[in-house]
Amino acid sequence: MKHVFRLFVLTLVMTLLTTSAFAYPPGFLVYHGSREEKKIAITVDDCYDVNVIRMIHELSVEYDFPITWFVVGNQFRDEEKELWESIIAHGSEIGNHTWKHPYLTRINIHFARNQILLTQERIDEMLGYHYPLRLLRPPYGVFSENGTNLLNMFYEYGVEKTIMWDVSNTDPKAAFRNTQNGSILLYHTNYKDVECLRVLIPMLLEEGYELVTVSELLGLEPLEIGGEKYVFPYR
Ligand SMILES: [Zn+2]
Repeated sequence: MKHVFRLFVLTLVMTLLTTSAFAYPPGFLVYHGSREEKKIAITVDDCYDVNVIRMIHELSVEYDFPITWFVVGNQFRDEEKELWESIIAHGSEIGNHTWKHPYLTRINIHFARNQILLTQERIDEMLGYHYPLRLLRPPYGVFSENGTNLLNMFYEYGVEKTIMWDVSNTDPKAAFRNTQNGSILLYHTNYKDVECLRVLIPMLLEEGYELVTVSELLGLEPLEIGGEKYVFPYR
């Protein structure tokens, strides 16, 4: 009986230690921005197809609005450095979508952490300066499953906000209908999504929505770019 009690106390202490050290703050998990202002954010995930990245970037230049790109880290190629530089120069924003797009809850927590840090290392390496990836979108939107919740880990490893979405339609009419003040719209680098955006963007602008980055939607401080490149400490 005694050792059962001791085990109980030990478990309790361990739980308290692991949960209190890096408790994520309120507002860390985001599905949308303020419903009071007519601002929305277009987000585009994965970035496997460079032609589609170009097409969506050109659309954002044509209609003069920024995109928030959630990029899979292993897709940052040196050949596309200039494209990413012009995306950043346009005022678009880049967020972390992990290194290889796994279900983060189904792998060892240290591997999950590495998925985030390797992506940070790679973007700095490609750009040649430090670009902090302060926004994270976990693949498939999964951060909690079967008793594992990774939000504290994300926060511990430098993520400022975990970004979900509240609109994910690739039919422009449905997307328009579901969009409201503060909405975060989810798209992917697929041709179908480009076709949707071509129709949807003018509709949203016509309706009077201001299209902004996720950081601006959430009222975050401007991103501090530059400084020491991030180097992943060990593998
Ligand atoms: Zn994805």
